[in-house]
Amino acid sequence: MSKQFAVIGMGRFGSSVARALYEMDYEVMGIDENEEVINEHINYVTHAVAADSTDERALREIGIRNFDVVVVAIGADIQASILTVLILKEMGVKKIVAKAQNERHGQVLYKVGADRVVFPERDMGKRVAHNLISASVLDFIELAEDYSVAEVVVSHGMVGKTLREIDVRAKYGVNVIAIKSGEKFNIAPQPDESIHANDVLVVIGNNKNLKEFEKYA
Ligand code: ATP
Repeated sequence: MSKQFAVIGMGRFGSSVARALYEMDYEVMGIDENEEVINEHINYVTHAVAADSTDERALREIGIRNFDVVVVAIGADIQASILTVLILKEMGVKKIVAKAQNERHGQVLYKVGADRVVFPERDMGKRVAHNLISASVLDFIELAEDYSVAEVVVSHGMVGKTLREIDVRAKYGVNVIAIKSGEKFNIAPQPDESIHANDVLVVIGNNKNLKEFEKYA
């Protein structure tokens, strides 16, 4: 049987996670203390329940322990978010993913038992910043503290050359993992692949090297 998910807190982030899972045909239960919010999202989840997640009994009635992954997407009410994670951990939930407002909140969430903490606002802020600094950078995703993937539009100087000729691995220490060329997406580019105007290179590398490469691109 495929994984079953529960999302607690159906704000912008939680409802977006829940809906994406639902659209990928997973079973998703949406939980929110606000009845109106529940009604709003009822068609985009498998089940929608109005409940306060800081109430252990309510969570027990829902059978929260039976879900493979529980996402805690409560933001503004930091106390409720922490308490919810703590209760879920004590109840034996297999995997808890929680959204944090800031670093400190994130640290506490790990301490009380979150298996993974996400920082959507911080991460999206970084992605937008990279795009603002350089128009050639379309997107930037941090993989680890020092490593990222960037989508970079090729510069004039690269057009007509092959990957071997631009040799970004030797020059910048980054690797081209894919080339987007219009509608085409080449995910295993060969060294003799030539670069066309407006192509987008998907490159992976450490942040320092990527920064140098972004200047060149
Ligand atoms: P977003 O940015 O995703 O919209 P946010 O960070 O502003 O969200 P909130 O709006 O504070 O977060 O919370 C998201 C949802 O969580 C709200 O719909 C709120 O009703 C719900 N929520 C808050 N506390 C609880 C709780 N104890 N139990 C269940 N749901 C809760």
